[in-house]
Amino acid sequence: MKYLGAHVSAAGGPDQAVLRAVEIGADAFALFTKNQRQWRAKPLTDEAIEAFRTACREHDFAPKQILPHDSYLINLGHPDAGGLAKSRDAFLDEMQRCEQLGLTLLNFHPGSHLKKISERECLSRIAESINQALDATRGVTAVIENTAGQGTNLGWRFEHLAEIIEQVDDKSRVGVCIDTCHAFAAGYDLRTPEACTATLDDFGAVVGFEYLRGMHLNDAKSEYASRVDRHHSLGQGNIGLDAFTTIMRDPRIDEIPLVLETIEPAIWAEEIAWLRAQVADA
Ligand SMILES: [Zn+2]
Ligand SMILES: [Zn+2]
Repeated sequence: MKYLGAHVSAAGGPDQAVLRAVEIGADAFALFTKNQRQWRAKPLTDEAIEAFRTACREHDFAPKQILPHDSYLINLGHPDAGGLAKSRDAFLDEMQRCEQLGLTLLNFHPGSHLKKISERECLSRIAESINQALDATRGVTAVIENTAGQGTNLGWRFEHLAEIIEQVDDKSRVGVCIDTCHAFAAGYDLRTPEACTATLDDFGAVVGFEYLRGMHLNDAKSEYASRVDRHHSLGQGNIGLDAFTTIMRDPRIDEIPLVLETIEPAIWAEEIAWLRAQVADA
């Protein structure tokens, strides 16, 4: 079973995200549980939590079909003590919000060295940040997303993800999310069925499919290996449709949320229907 959806708005409360997912025919979705551009947020009210849990129950969304995303401000590999502490606090708050909502995954971008520390040191800080958050929470898996490698962002090589996981103590609560646009921009070819399968094989060998907890399905406005993160609608960018057909037919990618972060919400329903048809046509 492949769960398909999009990163929907949670304006008006997290329960509204569930309804927006239903409207586009999704059986998966991503959301922010707070404003993604601010450090602080009001705690979730009991009413908001209850409304979200009820909506998920009514519309048959299990926690494994939902992939919340954390704030863009957080840098778990921050080189400075102050910046690192602030990021770790904010990340813990994000994990706790997931706990409160009954969610089991939290998707985040690993972190940036800002040219002040080595890659290795930054990856170790990220792993230690994850360890601290896992120690303080229960039931939520930290899901590391591969990046396009823009600026000093780490996590664009599968080896970076493997190195972080290697240093996480509780391997049962760490996972990864592969974003197709980011992988392509980072230099992993996806343009033909063969190239896409080879990239997935590489992921399996370096990280392992047992860690795959979700995917972001995005075409890329950015060029191959450009290290630039610009999403596009499926089939309209430089990746092309073959990659998405290949992913939909790959049995290694199952029982996880596949989430669109494509640029035209108006066609999400269409994109989801097209993706579903790829399995049926196989
Ligand atoms: Zn993404
Ligand atoms: Zn992106």
